[in-house]
Amino acid sequence: MKKFLELLNGEKIELANIYCIASNYSKHAEEMGTKIPEDPVVFLKPTSAYVPDGGTIFLPSFSNNVHHEVELVVVIGKDGRNIEPNEAVDYIAGYAVGIDVTLRDIQAKAKAEGKPWGIAKGFYTSAPISKIVDSKQFNGKIPFFELLLKVNGEIRQKANTREMERSVESLVSFISRVFSLSAGDCIFTGTPEGVGKIVPGDNLYAELSGFVTLNCSVVNY
Ligand code: MG
Repeated sequence: MKKFLELLNGEKIELANIYCIASNYSKHAEEMGTKIPEDPVVFLKPTSAYVPDGGTIFLPSFSNNVHHEVELVVVIGKDGRNIEPNEAVDYIAGYAVGIDVTLRDIQAKAKAEGKPWGIAKGFYTSAPISKIVDSKQFNGKIPFFELLLKVNGEIRQKANTREMERSVESLVSFISRVFSLSAGDCIFTGTPEGVGKIVPGDNLYAELSGFVTLNCSVVNY
């Protein structure tokens, strides 16, 4: 089924690929007991993972430890390959806040066994994404954003995207070289520290402070 992202002005963009960057904030790498990798670590989520604002995250029965990871999501506006970092801004339609919902126990097992993260990161409803803030309002610049995530009204994650180890420019460039980029692609740019468990009944609230918010409920699948 086709999925559509929505700009704050109501314009729609058909969702294409969902790319995600692992370990892009040093304090989160620390809390996971890892280091910032030499080259970007990229994984993907299928479009069936997408959840719009106001939607529901379904926790699968085969995991007992599901984590929230709040992230800046970069939404691509036009196709491109081999994009230079200084041209990246021309390919960005806008910015959203997303939650990289993660089955931490399944991921830990996959890591230990040297297996891919497809299930841990790509299960149904693992990618809530807010409405999109149009990039046009930033006058050709890629801004920094304040990220915030609350669970049941309590702040769990708070950071500024300037703390990212790899910039939006460099990530757009890297992904365009490896995969190419298409209009409607989303890039989850990594989570700051403070990840934690979510359970049925939780209400998740995330924001790019001053720009856009995202609300999700959590239930058992
Ligand atoms: Mg993540």
